[in-house]
Amino acid sequence: MQSPSIPLFRFDNSYARDLEGFYVRWKPAQVAQPRLLFLNLALADELGLDPAALQSAQGAAVLAGNTVPEGAEPLAQAYAGHQFGGFSPQLGDGRALLLGEVIDRQGRRRDIAFKGSGRTPFSRGGDGKAAVGPMLREVLIGEAMHALGIPTTRALAVAATGEPVYREKALPGAVLARVASSHLRVGTFQFYAARGEHDKLRQLAEYAIARHDPDLAGAPQRYLALLGRVAQRQARLIAQWMNVGFIHGVMNTDNMTISGETIDYGPCAFMEAYDPQAVFSSIDSNGRYAYGNQPVIAQWNLARLAEALLPLMPQEDSKEAADRAVEQATAVIHGFPALYQAALLRGQRDKLGLADAAQADEAGDAALANDWLGLLHAQGVDFTLGWRRLADAAAGDDSLLRALFPEPQALLEWLARWRARCEMQGAISPEARAQGMRRANPWIIPRNHRVEEALAAASERDDLAPFERLLSALRNPYEETPEHASYAEPAPAALTACYQTFCGT
Ligand code: AMP
Ligand code: MG
Repeated sequence: MQSPSIPLFRFDNSYARDLEGFYVRWKPAQVAQPRLLFLNLALADELGLDPAALQSAQGAAVLAGNTVPEGAEPLAQAYAGHQFGGFSPQLGDGRALLLGEVIDRQGRRRDIAFKGSGRTPFSRGGDGKAAVGPMLREVLIGEAMHALGIPTTRALAVAATGEPVYREKALPGAVLARVASSHLRVGTFQFYAARGEHDKLRQLAEYAIARHDPDLAGAPQRYLALLGRVAQRQARLIAQWMNVGFIHGVMNTDNMTISGETIDYGPCAFMEAYDPQAVFSSIDSNGRYAYGNQPVIAQWNLARLAEALLPLMPQEDSKEAADRAVEQATAVIHGFPALYQAALLRGQRDKLGLADAAQADEAGDAALANDWLGLLHAQGVDFTLGWRRLADAAAGDDSLLRALFPEPQALLEWLARWRARCEMQGAISPEARAQGMRRANPWIIPRNHRVEEALAAASERDDLAPFERLLSALRNPYEETPEHASYAEPAPAALTACYQTFCGT
């Protein structure tokens, strides 16, 4: 048992300290019966936490919200956001609380926050709660993204509450402990901009700079530069999403971080057969957040950030200075597609086995990648396996790749072009090229049917074994091992055709 005198976390709460008035201090709700369902041992270690203490009854009480740990200053953050294009001036943490911040072993400041910890002053009509299934979903997708090298918030723990949560039916309740490099969102800036509170907006921007871009501190055009940094991080992030077939599903401005981490795994899903129009979210009936729209939406969201930061940008109080600020901010937003395309192509070149940057042929390689995607689309080929089997083709064996294509003739023509391009790339052995490609093209992604199956077992039967097996496969996405083979298989097409994800549950 953990002694009460030893703190679980060594908190250092800059948000609470530096941003008084940007939040409401609030306590997590008491729950009936805390029980730890999941603890992220690797992440606990990164954060310098004691896993045995977290696994004790006292640890479970902390992770479910019943005991506020020493040094925590729980608070609900205020933020606004454009949701499906419409502006809500006040959203805020309606079922979340920032518990505090810790400095991890590498010296990085990390937020520890709850999701599902009860109503707050921002809850509007909501119950402030979360269910076991969606919180374990955050674990699976977040850990998968992390293993794929994609910036993401991560789950530290999920604790069952022993209480029901009422959705379409009664579901077991849970609290997620989430770790993020911050919870600053585009919507956090929008909140103060919309209220015309420019002093607070400036204070927030200074905080964001100190936290995420400390090299910009004190620079003359730092708010414009901050916008540029966020654009750069988001360009890289969205390119990484696109290169693994990830569909976030609810890219509202309150779900876009300043840090460049993926946040809020609600109705997200990974694509199976390649289709730019792929949408899974039940609430996205117009396909606003479809796979292929994500870069455009990211740019749209960044334009909202630009608008929010604009009042801070003019160098002096004159019309000329204001016009110039608009021009400069607009230039950053217009520059986003090029940043994104460059990041996308870097990833695609790795996936194509053309990683030698000195030999880059920007236009030619982009056309090669686009034609490949066109082939996958035309023939309904599984995105993940298509890329993965291309690595086998690089090693000299086309058979598994061909088997994915109903009409292999078009594939053979493309393969000839690709091989010619590979040969121009110098003296890499086929096996070395294939090895490099296998590090860029995962074998395992969180297949929707596998995720659902694991969540159903946990939620409906309290059976965590499928969740744990899936998690261990997702944590090792690049290695082909016989024990994980079933996780690499696409869902039956009929199942994918009617697959839907549900938000906010
Ligand atoms: P999300 O879709 O999870 O990003 O949430 C969007 C907004 O709705 C945020 O302000 C959340 O805090 C709020 N929200 C979502 N679900 C609930 C809930 N069950 N109770 C209260 N607020 C919620
Ligand atoms: Mg959200």
